[in-house]
Amino acid sequence: MSFATLGLAPALLRAVREQGYHAPTAVQTAALPPALAGSDVLALAQTGSGKTAAFALPLLQRLVASPPRPGPRALVLAPTRELAMQTAQLLRDLAALLMQRPKIALAFGGVSINPQLMALRGGCDVMVATPGRLLDLLDHNGLTLAGVQCLVLDEADRLLGLGFADELQRVIAQLPARRQNLLFSATFAPAVESLAAELLHEPVRIEIDEAPPQITQRAIQLDRAQRLPALRQLLAEQGWDRCLVFVASRYTAELVSDKLFAHGFKAGVLHGELSQGARRDVLEALKAGSVKVLVATDVAARGLHVEALDAVVNYELPRSAADYTHRIGRTGRAGATGVAVSFICADSAENAESHFRLIEKRQGQRVPRERLAGFEPQAIATEAEATGGIKSTTRKSKKDKLREAATRAGG
Ligand code: AMP
Repeated sequence: MSFATLGLAPALLRAVREQGYHAPTAVQTAALPPALAGSDVLALAQTGSGKTAAFALPLLQRLVASPPRPGPRALVLAPTRELAMQTAQLLRDLAALLMQRPKIALAFGGVSINPQLMALRGGCDVMVATPGRLLDLLDHNGLTLAGVQCLVLDEADRLLGLGFADELQRVIAQLPARRQNLLFSATFAPAVESLAAELLHEPVRIEIDEAPPQITQRAIQLDRAQRLPALRQLLAEQGWDRCLVFVASRYTAELVSDKLFAHGFKAGVLHGELSQGARRDVLEALKAGSVKVLVATDVAARGLHVEALDAVVNYELPRSAADYTHRIGRTGRAGATGVAVSFICADSAENAESHFRLIEKRQGQRVPRERLAGFEPQAIATEAEATGGIKSTTRKSKKDKLREAATRAGG
């Protein structure tokens, strides 16, 4: 299958070539024809499947064919600023070769609203926004949604989750009834289905039975105190060019990145308390290769895409199985292979072994436990414990070790 046979206009065909896309991904192959024809689409698509282009291309192609209006003609809603930024960037890149280049506006919270209001002064053709900030802009009369012909909900399952659902409904209430709706979601959970039923008109439903991404999962048992030296060894041995290390808090993110940096690694840090500029800079540095190890909290887990990320390390386990899936999904993207390493610490406060077992259960996959030579844990949760069997501890006391050594020495 080629992009040309899917009905893309010549300027967009050139644009996808410039992006380095040689052939459409499965979701693009399925979504492009109905979306170009103006149908509503409900697509099951994860970040990494090429979903952004699956809605961006038809959106742009239909936009250039419709007469200009004062307000945006297309509205793309995304749950996070990172995702909104990446989507706006792809839209701008793809639109760069169009004869009448549409104006793509971007808005998200956590930064001053004034520059965003200023940017909307001359109007825009496409608005990419997080829902809360879009409502703020509407309250400030920064724009009107009366001319929207196409609505995209990116990561609709998240937009429907806690904290967004009300805002989403308020935005939808301001849209004209006649419009195209493109809804992309990582799941077809009941909430998504019921929104889809309310929102979409005879949608084309796309569910791709794609081969799972090529991610090798590893689970390494070790003691908490060994995590940093073990990570350093992995980084040194594995030759990963770009790697994301996930931790649970801003404090640990700073600490681990500082320690790696002090040991000569090109380490950077990404967490929610950094300024927008600092976040952008570190992501750019990762892309450019001046940062090779990015230590991040879950802020970075969603939406973020960095080409050719070789590995994800769960230095600390995520809270939920869903977060685990999102974290490891940062690697092995768009056909590339990747590795996801999780540190399982038997001496952690929260029982890491049973927590990881839950994660395995949720994703229906067992990851063999390993130990790294030189970093064997002193406190090991045995396989019997791991499978919920009899409790046994293999931790040896100092005395036991001395006794064993004496026996060995004594022959
Ligand atoms: P997305 O799911 O939109 O976040 O895209 C994931 C990654 O796949 C991005 O890095 C895209 O640049 C890349 N990508 C999207 N479509 C294609 C394609 N047709 N061929 C190769 N890479 C693609």
